[in-house]
Amino acid sequence: MKRNPSTATPNQLSEQLAATGFRSTQQRQRVYDVLMEKRDHPTAEEVFLRAKQAMPDISMATVYNCLDALVKTGVVRQVKIERGAARFCPNMHEHWHFHCTGCGGVFDMDQPDNACDAFPLPKGFKIDQFEIAAHGLCPACSSARNK
Ligand SMILES: [Zn+2]
Ligand SMILES: [Zn+2]
Repeated sequence: MKRNPSTATPNQLSEQLAATGFRSTQQRQRVYDVLMEKRDHPTAEEVFLRAKQAMPDISMATVYNCLDALVKTGVVRQVKIERGAARFCPNMHEHWHFHCTGCGGVFDMDQPDNACDAFPLPKGFKIDQFEIAAHGLCPACSSARNK
């Protein structure tokens, strides 16, 4: 079985939470599972609606709290696309995002190796991290438009 280092099993998740000083709770586990189940970069509100299906008692405030803990622990990242609500992504590999202007979907794109070299930076500048989103149409929206 191929192991993906960016995904945490329940035990790893509680270890990682503990390492950052957070308790592992059922709610945090559930919120993390929601993000892993469907990697479509949901907003906090979408996470809340999905988490509720298996955990009807969970509140929006708890979901915010869980997302915050997961982001601080470093197992989930927050993605901002333009002015929209923050979205959440459990893919911790370096990657970029593709935002579909047709359906509003957000998809992962691999960050090319040596991406830093491809940017015409002014002399002396150094990139630490990218926050890149491309905007366009996903295959479904682009074929719908061509009909
Ligand atoms: Zn689309
Ligand atoms: Zn992503």
